[in-house]
Parts: sequence; C-alpha cells; structure tokens
Amino acid sequence: MTESSLSIRRAEPLSSEEASSAVALDALRAFMARHERLFVLTGAGVSVASGIPGYRDMNGDWMRAQPIQWQAFRDSEHARRRYWARSMVGWPMLAGAEPNAAHRALAQLGAEGRIARLVTQNVDGLHQRAGSAEVVELHGSIDAVICLDCGARHSRAAIQTLLLRDNPALAGVSAAVSADGDAHLEWEALDRFRVPDCPDCSGVLKPDVVFFGENVPRERVAAAAQALEAADAMLVVGSSLMVFSGYRFCRWAVQAGTPIAAINMGRTRADSLFSLKIEAPCGDALSAVTAQLAPSVFNR
Ligand SMILES: [Zn+2]
Repeated sequence: MTESSLSIRRAEPLSSEEASSAVALDALRAFMARHERLFVLTGAGVSVASGIPGYRDMNGDWMRAQPIQWQAFRDSEHARRRYWARSMVGWPMLAGAEPNAAHRALAQLGAEGRIARLVTQNVDGLHQRAGSAEVVELHGSIDAVICLDCGARHSRAAIQTLLLRDNPALAGVSAAVSADGDAHLEWEALDRFRVPDCPDCSGVLKPDVVFFGENVPRERVAAAAQALEAADAMLVVGSSLMVFSGYRFCRWAVQAGTPIAAINMGRTRADSLFSLKIEAPCGDALSAVTAQLAPSVFNR
C-alpha cells in the first residue's frame, strides 16, 4: 500500500499533518479497537479490486447509464430482452470474479468475532466466498434466478446455458460490465434475442436481485436493522450510500447514537453523518488495520 493513497476526514477538520495516512489508519484502528461489535455495510467499492466496476464516480454520480428499473423490466418485453442480452454477456465476468483483500479482511474480522453482522449491497456473493458467515444480501444474489409465475428458483449458471443455446450469435461477445452484471452492450439484433423462460412452467424469469425502483424485502431490512441495534458501531466500506436502502442504516445509526466510520473513495451521501472517514482503497485500509488489530484481540 502506498501511504499517500490514504487521507482522512472527520467531523473536526484535520491539520495537513494529521491528514497523513498513518494518522488515518491509526484513527480507524482505534475506532475498531473501541467498538468490538461492528455493523458492517458494504457496497460496490469492495468488489472493484476483484475486477467488478462500481456504479459511481468520485462525486457519487452515475458512471454509466442508470441500471434497469423494476417497472420497466416487469412491464416491457423489450426491456427484458435488453436486460437478458446484457446479462448474458456480463455473466462470465461476474461468475469468474474472485474475492480480494477487502473481502478477506472482513471475513477475518468476522472470524475474530468483531462483526455483529455483515450487510452488503453487492449481489456478487464474494463476501461468502471469502468466508464471511450470515451475510445479509440487501439486494439479493445474482447467482439465482426466480420465476415470477411459479416461484421456482434456478441457478444463474443453468439459465446461462439456456441463453447460450438460444442466442449463439451473442456467445463470446464481450463488453464493459457493471456490478450487477449488466454489460454495456447495444445490440442491433435485439429483436431476435430469445429471453429464457422458466424451465418448469415457461413463466417470466427475473434475477433474484432487487432492481432499482423495487423495495428490499421487509424481512431482510428487519434482520439488518436488528443487527444494527445490537452493534456498538457501524462501519461503511466501499459505498457511496446514494441508494436509500443503504443510506437509511446510517440515519438509524445516528438516531441511536451509534458512531459510524467509513472507508470510501470519493463523496458519499452520508459524509456529514460519519465520525471518521478514510478515503483509501478498501482492501488497503482494511488489511493494514486488521493486520495490526488482530494480535491484541487474539492475546486478550
Ligand atoms: Zn416457473
């Protein structure tokens, strides 16, 4: 890690000396040493080092066209065709992504009992693959596909086989991809694209993810909210918190007097709510902190 990649921002302005990386990491380490049961909320920034691009730039603005809206997917066959064509092209990248240092550091913190609950806005499953347990996937999992008619659950890999079988013209095509597996593909022959049907009932399939414009299932929010109540601090990792489903946890934390630290490159919607903010790549900051935090915990 290069030390100059770190900066710190907190409620009280820091002097330029204080803003050095060592101070930033010390402050984060002290925060985590003080608060032993963290409610961790992660976002797309955590998976960037795994090769999965985020949605937002340093200002929290969309880097590309906004992802598909739930209403469009539900109501328009054209929108579904476009979604599945882009998803078909984007899937191999998501399916092949590996956990990075940030996922591993969080898994380690979890194994050390320092995480009350890990809640993620990501749908890539990389926290679980790194070894984190009982992850709440706020926005679902890209690994599964559900039938809107019969409720059957299918693996995304199985649906990819159908997509490839029915749309050989798109096999092997590559395009830039977003965190939800949406490839940035504009395909002229979209009218000929064959959308996969439910293998059980020929019904309409939808990835088991929460689309923009769709509500996060109530029980998922309740489980996360309960975990936040039981935690003594909140740690945001790699999220601009621009989406309300994540931002609201910061509001609830502040209402409950629970301090929040954040590691994120760039502006977030909750900047004014943080006790401590570290602007650094998630994996760098987390591995540096956990490496030095671990011994004192193990030896206690
Ligand atoms: Zn079905």
